[in-house]
Amino acid sequence: MAVATTSTARSLSRLSAPGVIVAVFVLAMSACVVGLVLWKAVDARRSALLQSEVDIRNLAHSLQEQASHTFQAADVAMAGMVDLLKYQNPRADRFNQFLVNTIKSLPQIREFGVLDATGEWRYSSLPKTPLHNNYDRNYFTFHRENDDPGLRINDPLLSRLTGQMTILLTRRLNNQDGSFNGVLVAAIPSDYFNDFFKSFDLGEQAGISLLRNDGIVLAHWPSLDVGKDLSNTELFRNKVKEARSGYYRITSPFDGVTKYFGYEQSAGYPVLVTVAIPEKQVLADWRGHLRSDIAVAAVLLCSVILLATLLSTQFRFRLNMEKALRERESRYRLLADNIADVVILLDHAGNFLYVSHSVEFVLGLDPATLIGRSCLELVHPDDISAVRAANAKLTDSSTMQSIVFRTYRDDRSTAWVEINFKHAERAEDADERIEIVGVLRDVTLRKIMQDELTALNTRLAELATTDGLTGLANRRTLDGFLNRAFTQDDQLSVLLIDIDHFKGYNDSMGHQAGDGCLKRVASVLADATINTSALAARYGGEEFAIILPGVAEAEAMIVAEAVRLRVRALEIVNGAAARGYLSVSIGVASRNARTANETVLLGEADLALYEAKRRGRDCVIAQSTLEQDYFSAGFQQHG
Ligand code: GH3
Ligand code: MG
Ligand code: MG
Repeated sequence: MAVATTSTARSLSRLSAPGVIVAVFVLAMSACVVGLVLWKAVDARRSALLQSEVDIRNLAHSLQEQASHTFQAADVAMAGMVDLLKYQNPRADRFNQFLVNTIKSLPQIREFGVLDATGEWRYSSLPKTPLHNNYDRNYFTFHRENDDPGLRINDPLLSRLTGQMTILLTRRLNNQDGSFNGVLVAAIPSDYFNDFFKSFDLGEQAGISLLRNDGIVLAHWPSLDVGKDLSNTELFRNKVKEARSGYYRITSPFDGVTKYFGYEQSAGYPVLVTVAIPEKQVLADWRGHLRSDIAVAAVLLCSVILLATLLSTQFRFRLNMEKALRERESRYRLLADNIADVVILLDHAGNFLYVSHSVEFVLGLDPATLIGRSCLELVHPDDISAVRAANAKLTDSSTMQSIVFRTYRDDRSTAWVEINFKHAERAEDADERIEIVGVLRDVTLRKIMQDELTALNTRLAELATTDGLTGLANRRTLDGFLNRAFTQDDQLSVLLIDIDHFKGYNDSMGHQAGDGCLKRVASVLADATINTSALAARYGGEEFAIILPGVAEAEAMIVAEAVRLRVRALEIVNGAAARGYLSVSIGVASRNARTANETVLLGEADLALYEAKRRGRDCVIAQSTLEQDYFSAGFQQHG
């Protein structure tokens, strides 16, 4: 059952194939055209035959009339002569002249002659009366032995006088008592009829005959086969017995050609006329029209076939095109739905036109529920302005924007996504408004890793610039800061701070306690510089520095003194120190006209620090006082 259904469906689909449709169309058109041509041909042939019958019958009638009149005119003239000769015996020269005169008004008669009862010529229209005897002639014997007074149309014969085929018309001459008195003869040349028949332009192989009722040919055009006996033909065996006139198809007894044939008998004389026109000629026009019809039909059919071929090609092309389009569409869908990214298409207002199925794997959302909704519904409120800003930067279809923002998964958890998007215009429709295509990808994991990396980098940067133990700036940072300050500020002071007797503290309290002590001193320095442009740094070991940009010596001395007092105020017990508490010595140097560079400045602070140590520690010494002391000491020494 299932197999049958499948095969039916397959054959149906095969039926609807464009090739089959076109073939059926071509067959139907061909059948119509051929049918039309055939129908027209049959109809036209019938009309042609009907017309030919009318023409042939009319011609046969006219020719019959002409023949009848020809015989009648001769007959009337002869009847008068018979009457005259019955009662009179005219003189030969007068009657001969009478015969000549009569012939002038009867062009069909070539000659008249009168034979006496012995067959000798008595009168003649000829200039010289013939001398031969005609006693042996058939007609003479006939008239001698039959008292029938009517006109006899004799078998055509070859005239002894002219050598022409001649139709002799004869009448019996009687004496007053009714006895035989000879024969009146009128000679009509067969050519008389032939010349008349010839005047009808009936074409080759057409034929006109004048026949006697017993089948003897009296005249025939064009074969001139005069005297032939046609009594055995269909015409004389049946047709003439059935009707005075008729029309039918024959095979000509003269040339064997198939012809359409009409005949008509004379009412007054035992003759009939036939007209035969070859079938080929009757149907010549019809054949010509048929040929042109066939040519037109052939052209029409060729055009139909050509058109059908074009149509079928077009059909096939479109089918292939549709198939290719379907394949391409399914390929795109396959790609869009199966890549890890989500492909989206938005209208110009930012509403979803298309979302690939992969949104189900990426965010757990059903793509169908998104269509028509605004894309901003998926954006975290804090990120909406950033997304809007990125969208505003899209100016034309060549620029691509990329933005990372937070969105919600189906379970309302937050995910970081990155979208690359751009304007797109539909190429096939210039009026179509601009749309936005985008590829969206889940970057939550990447974002977490990035954040961790950023934190690590920040920490690394801190480590590179700060001292691990105290958290103050390290020596590298100090150098850089001092270098920048020296190029920027004309007023600049440096404090070098060294813990007094720290070795002793370490020795007595231990290294760890020493570290703790370093941190506490560092925090004093940090507090002293907090919220200022100054920098506190660990210079190395238990030595520190404070850089004071824009600060002159007097103010620097105040800062230094405050630091010294606040370290003392920590009251860290140091047995090694003279006063029993941890203290610092501070050397102060300020930039002046002679300070060549920051190294010199640092060296001067170091000298001041050295001087502070020398003067008993826990004190602040300015490098400027040191200069005077140095010069005075130098003066004393050298002086
Ligand atoms: P003075 O008053 O002349 O400066 O004497 P002092 O003992 O402080 O000078 P000295 O240069 O002889 O000793 C410095 C000591 O500082 C030596 C070292 O044990 C100690 N020190 C340096 N760096 C650290 C540190 O990071 N931690 C600890 N606990 N001690 C340190
Ligand atoms: Mg020291
Ligand atoms: Mg020291």
